[in-house]
Amino acid sequence: MQPLELYIHIPFCVKKCAYCDFLSGPTGEKEKEEYVKMLVDEIRNCPDAVQDYRVVSIFFGGGTPSLLTGEQIGRLMDTVREIFTLDEDAEITMEMNPGTVTEEKLRRYRQAGVNRLSIGLQSVNDEELRLLGRIHTYEEFLEAYHLARANGFSNINVDLISAIPGQTVESWRRTLEQVMALSPEHISAYSLILEEGTPFYKKYVEDEAKEGPKLPDEDAERQMYWDTETLMEKNGYHRYEISNYAKEGYACRHNLGYWERIPYLGFGIGAASLVPGELIGKCRKLEGKMGRYTNPDQLREYAHSYRNKFQAELLTETEEMEEFMFLGLRKMDGISKKEFSEYFGKSLEDIYGEAICKLESLKLLEQDDDRVWLTKRGIDVSNSVFVEFLLEG
Ligand code: SF4
Repeated sequence: MQPLELYIHIPFCVKKCAYCDFLSGPTGEKEKEEYVKMLVDEIRNCPDAVQDYRVVSIFFGGGTPSLLTGEQIGRLMDTVREIFTLDEDAEITMEMNPGTVTEEKLRRYRQAGVNRLSIGLQSVNDEELRLLGRIHTYEEFLEAYHLARANGFSNINVDLISAIPGQTVESWRRTLEQVMALSPEHISAYSLILEEGTPFYKKYVEDEAKEGPKLPDEDAERQMYWDTETLMEKNGYHRYEISNYAKEGYACRHNLGYWERIPYLGFGIGAASLVPGELIGKCRKLEGKMGRYTNPDQLREYAHSYRNKFQAELLTETEEMEEFMFLGLRKMDGISKKEFSEYFGKSLEDIYGEAICKLESLKLLEQDDDRVWLTKRGIDVSNSVFVEFLLEG
């Protein structure tokens, strides 16, 4: 049986953070329940052919999935088990916002099968949290973290953000050190990105922040970036992707699968799917090909269309090759030449020989007999490296 991943999008948050452009926002209890019912219906609407796959990971992302009750998460998991074959040791992750969980909820999530939590902390500094518009303090994060541990969660990720307005190199180091002292199995550390349409974009890009704390300058931001890698490695956190660090054996299997292009089905508004050809329109001729489908990001359209997701558009070979490179090179161990030629029936050298040669001479990329990976310098400028792998036509 082929592996398959599931993503379930929960678009609810207590309130919108100032930097966030994710598909999420506040809502009422009635709307949440209606949405869960639609998700159940969407999962049940999968074709029988999904039975040929085994689900290796599930990710409840958001938004704030921990705003759902234990019963609602339990109902979604029961539906998944009814429709799919779930691996016994499947990784089942739930994103959680401190300040939205109780002991009762955590117990019910565990009973439902959730075995990995991803907690959005972002900073240990309450002033930085306030500026970001987070709903919790560091103390509240600690309570949630210890409650999760006490309730048997032995695989926890903590999300952090650097380059927050007003943040100094020292305060970022403090955040890293205090979080590592808690010993979570996994840490994601992203740099703040100012996304168009957010209050932060308006304040820091359009209005150029006339008042209040300023963004760290370029030198400080670079230093934070370097400190992240140095401190994490020193404390036993191995960098396995541009922004993700884990203790031995705790890399997020769901994310690795995504970068390795394992097929996935996304449920809920705005959720994307990478659908195996044999699930599209039940046409065996498409076996071995991949299609992409993204659910509408408006609730009303989603409600009318989620039953048609298996009409996904097939990806062209060019799109698949580009995706293979962009996603695979995000991982520190890069991509395999053998996997490329097995999948596409063409050698990597024939398609990307020139680009690889150029990037190698610039010391942005390295290769051996089988693998190609980015150097530290290449990771620093990964976006411009990826451009070299765009194919014409
Ligand atoms: S909790 Fe997460 S998803 Fe919700 S608004 Fe804040 S950053 Fe966005």
